[in-house]
Amino acid sequence: MSRSAHPAGPRHADVLPEGHYAAPPVDLNALDPKVWAQTVTRDEDGVVTVGGVDVKTLAEEVGTPAYVLDEEDFRARARAWRTAFGHDADVFYAGKAFLSRAVVRWLDEEGLNLDVCSGGELATALSAGLAPDRIAFHGNNKTPAEIRRAVEAGVGRIVLDSFQEIVRVAHLARELGKRQRVQIRVTVGVEAHTHEFIATAHEDQKFGIPLAGGQAAEAVRRALQLDSLDVIGIHSHIGSQIFDMSGFEVAAHRVVGLLKDIRDEHGVELPEIDLGGGLGIAYTSEDDPREPHEIAKALTEIVTRECEAARLRTPRISVEPGRAIAGPTAFTLYEVGTVKSLEGLRTYVSVDGGMSDNIRTALYDAEYSVALVSRTSDAEPMLVRVVGKHCESGDIVVKDAFLPADLAPGDLIAVPATGAYCRSMASNYNHALRPPVVAVREGEARVIVRRETEEDLLRLDVG
Ligand SMILES: *Cc1c(COP(=O)(O)O)cnc(C)c1O
Repeated sequence: MSRSAHPAGPRHADVLPEGHYAAPPVDLNALDPKVWAQTVTRDEDGVVTVGGVDVKTLAEEVGTPAYVLDEEDFRARARAWRTAFGHDADVFYAGKAFLSRAVVRWLDEEGLNLDVCSGGELATALSAGLAPDRIAFHGNNKTPAEIRRAVEAGVGRIVLDSFQEIVRVAHLARELGKRQRVQIRVTVGVEAHTHEFIATAHEDQKFGIPLAGGQAAEAVRRALQLDSLDVIGIHSHIGSQIFDMSGFEVAAHRVVGLLKDIRDEHGVELPEIDLGGGLGIAYTSEDDPREPHEIAKALTEIVTRECEAARLRTPRISVEPGRAIAGPTAFTLYEVGTVKSLEGLRTYVSVDGGMSDNIRTALYDAEYSVALVSRTSDAEPMLVRVVGKHCESGDIVVKDAFLPADLAPGDLIAVPATGAYCRSMASNYNHALRPPVVAVREGEARVIVRRETEEDLLRLDVG
């Protein structure tokens, strides 16, 4: 591809369209370890490698787009959470972030438990051989069929989300002759997002039972009366992509307050408290997430302190990181198709995927970074918008980023930190074929979720 057929876009110094972007990085070839999976590096030819496999080889073998997952990094992060919380706590990986049978086996081997929130996620976990008592079943509207299956399978806990569900699960458990361990999910009036939390009025949501007005206390009262339910604790999940621990502090304070009320009213000390997930990761170099051991220390101290103040035995804590384990471990590998420079506006870099493999930018205005990975370049930084191939102008993968000005069709670029909520939220919009997930480790690449084919699409089309 000759340069004349591909005029370089406006340099960042000439045109800076509106948007949120930092100054161009000093070195476009550098790969910030904050946002890239642990084993990512460049080889002597400048090609990015992960798990000892270079991206050009990966692109040849599995095609693009593809999610490339650093298995060693995934296991290390899972292990770090497990180790940080020790034996007095349980770590449940939130399967909705990204779930496959290989992932379930890694978690099993690393000693983690698993959250599921649908029949499909439960089926995946069971088919990978995870012991049912290590599974927690979530969701605000579990169907009777899902509940029946979970109870029959013997899941370790069902997290009850409404008054109706308390009755529904109790009935089904009784019918099946079982006593089901349950937690009750409460909304504590805290919503946390990234660097802030709001401590009022966030009970207006579909999840959980509000603490306000004694509703959660009433739910516990009812559940305790039902013989087929074994109420083991209270559950609270306050948000996502959280960096600020003060939201957890308020949540723990309020949940412990409820535990105290329960003790005072019923004479029972519920043995468990689940503080949910939502811990943030670095999507760009500007994010500074905390390490699992710092989070574990902070959460354990908060709960212990609150329980001492309430004269309660400290309950067993569980946490449910999803994004914090899976997110940083994968990047999406794309091939550059069209580079379109709109004079005085911006340069659009179109890739062979888009909102069908990463809906988060369109859905949440999420920020990502991007790098040229099939080679290095000494060209100047060019401010670009990375977009997909879908029939939506909102089909944006990376809103504002710098790539080298000599970027050309056929180059491979990669978007890091796409291990969570990308493949799991992928769609077939425009009849896109959902990309594979390739796990790399010690020089070997293994497809753990294969690319969809046109036969897969047509198999469902039975008209
Ligand atoms: C989504 C969710 C999680 C995981 O959230 P992350 O942001 O991926 O850590 C944990 N618990 C519950 C109940 C959730 O809904």
